[in-house]
Amino acid sequence: MHRNPWDPAKSCFNEYEVHSLKPSQLSSEVSTYQVRPNFFSLTIEDLKAIFEGQGKEQFRSQQVFKWVYEKRTTDPEKMSNLSKSFRAELRNLFDFSLPPVATHLKSIDGTQKFLFDMGQGMTVEAVLIPSDGRLTLCISSEIGCNMACRFCFTGKQKLKRRLQTGEIVGQFMQVHDRLGPDERISNIVFMGMGEPLDNPEAVFKSIEILHSTWGMNVSKKRVTVSTSGIVPEMWRIAASKVRLAVSLNGPDDAIRTQVMPINKRWPLAQLLSACKEYTRATRDKVTFEYVLLKGVTDQIEHARKLYKLTRDVPCKINIIPFNEHPGTGFERPDDSQVALFHKELMNLGAHVLLRRTMGRDIFAACGQLTSAYEEHPKMMDISNSTLGGLRVTDSRGGQLSL
Ligand code: SF4
Repeated sequence: MHRNPWDPAKSCFNEYEVHSLKPSQLSSEVSTYQVRPNFFSLTIEDLKAIFEGQGKEQFRSQQVFKWVYEKRTTDPEKMSNLSKSFRAELRNLFDFSLPPVATHLKSIDGTQKFLFDMGQGMTVEAVLIPSDGRLTLCISSEIGCNMACRFCFTGKQKLKRRLQTGEIVGQFMQVHDRLGPDERISNIVFMGMGEPLDNPEAVFKSIEILHSTWGMNVSKKRVTVSTSGIVPEMWRIAASKVRLAVSLNGPDDAIRTQVMPINKRWPLAQLLSACKEYTRATRDKVTFEYVLLKGVTDQIEHARKLYKLTRDVPCKINIIPFNEHPGTGFERPDDSQVALFHKELMNLGAHVLLRRTMGRDIFAACGQLTSAYEEHPKMMDISNSTLGGLRVTDSRGGQLSL
């Protein structure tokens, strides 16, 4: 795993206690893959080490990776260039299973939601979002989440357990295997259920596997890790050379703490300092996600404060009209208020995008994911907003992006 590459004396990331949840906070840490390691949790180096320990040739690992990731065969019997005895050994050594898809829903806008069965009655969701020639997969990293962001459906569930590497890679593989012959997942965003930096080992290992030329060869420039602001872990995003998105959702500490309790522990000054450090280390921009909550974060004065707050950080701001879910105390602003907020930021000179809402009718939009799928309807009426149908451009004439 990466180590913090920045000078501890200078790095703001080292000033704070590393966040971690006590094991007692988890209702279950039971592994789905206790007996044999799941193949999708292994890098090619892991496989080489396993084979080396058994006195097997190094090139065996490349052969097996090629079958699994390039030719998409997980049945050792079909790996025709391997000896019969080696094929039988493989079956005993590894579990080649992927998390089963329990439910697959399609939105009227083309968004697809996949509900995965993670065993013991637990599920997570991944969402495939088509836009402007890209196919973006939004992946989950945990079952439930302890960050308790108040606008988020997942945040209503306590953390049940963190996903394992193979379960994260498995979401990608299952969706990949359902694509048409000309389709390819072009982008990955860790914006599904869970806080990725609360499960960093599995998240960054899964990125290495998906990025590897022996894996799925996904460019790291097309991988975004989104955090609610676990400041001491943010260095990992720069070290892994993937893109950083930050759930900001408040123009000052008072409002952000009301919306995101994590702000009490790592307030805005510390969060923005970490963001600047990321931009210095990577020369990349940060994406700030900002949810518009009616009467709470959507006023013109909030837009002005947001601009002042972020103007010193190389960034773009995605504004996201709140997506309703059952039991929420927040409301989605009217389209006219969203437009005013957007316009104010543009006039101030911010690089701002109004994110097109996708998959809202199937509860697949930002903030709507949950594993308690039995407890709410699978479809919703989205006629109270036209934003879902608009093609949105950013303040510099570019097209919308995540
Ligand atoms: S927004 Fe992300 S970090 Fe916050 S509660 Fe939801 S899943 Fe957790």
